[in-house]
Amino acid sequence: MAIKFYNTLTKRKERFTPIKAGEVKIYTCGPTVYDTAHIGNFRTFIFEDLLKRFFVLKGYKVQHVMNLTDVDDKTIQRSVAEGINITELTQKYIDLFFEDLDTLKIIRADVYPKATEHVDIMIKMIEKLVDNGYAYQSDDKSIYFNIAKFNDYGKLAKLNMAEQKKSERIASDDYSKDNPQDFVLWKAWKTEDGEVFWNSPWGKGRPGWHIECSAMSTKYLGEHFDIHCGGVDNIFPHHENEIAQSQCAHDNKFVNYWLHSEHLMIDSGKMSKSLGNFYKISDLTAMGFTPETLRYLLLNSHYRTKIDFSVDKKQEAKKVVQRVNDFYDRLMNSSINKQNEKLPQEFNLFVAALDDDLNTPKALGIFFEWLRRTNIELDNDSITEDKIAQAINFVEKFNSVFDLLLQKSQIPQEVSDLVKKREEARANRDWNRADVYRDEIKALGWTIEDTKDGAKLKALK
Ligand code: AMP
Ligand code: ZN
Repeated sequence: MAIKFYNTLTKRKERFTPIKAGEVKIYTCGPTVYDTAHIGNFRTFIFEDLLKRFFVLKGYKVQHVMNLTDVDDKTIQRSVAEGINITELTQKYIDLFFEDLDTLKIIRADVYPKATEHVDIMIKMIEKLVDNGYAYQSDDKSIYFNIAKFNDYGKLAKLNMAEQKKSERIASDDYSKDNPQDFVLWKAWKTEDGEVFWNSPWGKGRPGWHIECSAMSTKYLGEHFDIHCGGVDNIFPHHENEIAQSQCAHDNKFVNYWLHSEHLMIDSGKMSKSLGNFYKISDLTAMGFTPETLRYLLLNSHYRTKIDFSVDKKQEAKKVVQRVNDFYDRLMNSSINKQNEKLPQEFNLFVAALDDDLNTPKALGIFFEWLRRTNIELDNDSITEDKIAQAINFVEKFNSVFDLLLQKSQIPQEVSDLVKKREEARANRDWNRADVYRDEIKALGWTIEDTKDGAKLKALK
């Protein structure tokens, strides 16, 4: 079935066609590292993780870039308030961010470019915009993008520019949709910026937030790529401005599909760092939330609907996670000899639900209904070994997207190392050595079978 996504740019579900067959290039806006990322930010990052895992399930080669915003108004203000150097501040939060990503089993992007390490390419892009008449210098020496020069300005956020009264230019990185304005590309240095500045053709200063993502996405994915994601709060002004800058600087289409996840709410308000109404991942794990329960709670709603987060949902989520794990263990205990490559037909329904704009609630519904029926067959002893093998395959495919199986069901490092060594021995046609590794793997409680897709491991129980 064709993959369809709701494209914020066209405001409708569209069939997904990659620029290059079998490959997908994705750029996702990363955290502003002036504080710890909260569960709201991770709602967006988990949605992006799901998108990526889904493409892998569909057999795509995925290239994923996520930036780290390590210089902006907030990072500078916080480093001044704490009396520490900005790099010291941002590195602390970058390290915490990666710890949380790993806790939540989020698959790492291919690259996490830092804004501060790419200022040269941002300056080049701004120079192009100035040279081509899209940007100008104001009295304070800052450089602004002239939104009147770009006919499509407002298309992503659906602004009717004819009805808008264009007001003053704006130096701040974030502002409201009610007030589209010329936005800053390069901020001239001010005393409060202290030691944070770079030299440029326009004097000392630093880049605005929006140009960071335009420049870094182009560097790593090219001028024109497939998918750009973020939370809905990124639509305006951030992504609107990214489109304007990129299209005007490159005279090329920028992004084909814009996907935005809705907010995670708390007490009916948006969870946000600036409001201080947030839970960090470490707060939640201290309360007894496991990575799997958090993944379930964040993926159980469709990405385009709001989530009302509440700690009261912990028990319900724990039960669901337990159910998948018990089921998997039960299947593994039932069959050790029979393996195949087949999948039950419910798997196709599961994938079809995800094909339809990543309908995770529907996909989970299909999976759990099938799990319930299969459990009954196991109770009645009315299931064939062939079907058990298919069921194991389905749970593993399911898990490659949702990742709800506890670590204990997954392969220990020692075993994966031996598998790798065995592969090497086989590649060298050293069959005796390969057999020794197979026995060592078995001694650790795992069987290995060679299939056309490579070696497959099963736990012996
Ligand atoms: P920030 O660190 O504020 O730049 O945000 C990083 C990402 O988290 C962006 O894609 C935001 O859109 C997203 N985000 C921020 N708050 C929330 C929230 N409450 N729910 C979902 N996503 C959010
Ligand atoms: Zn961005």
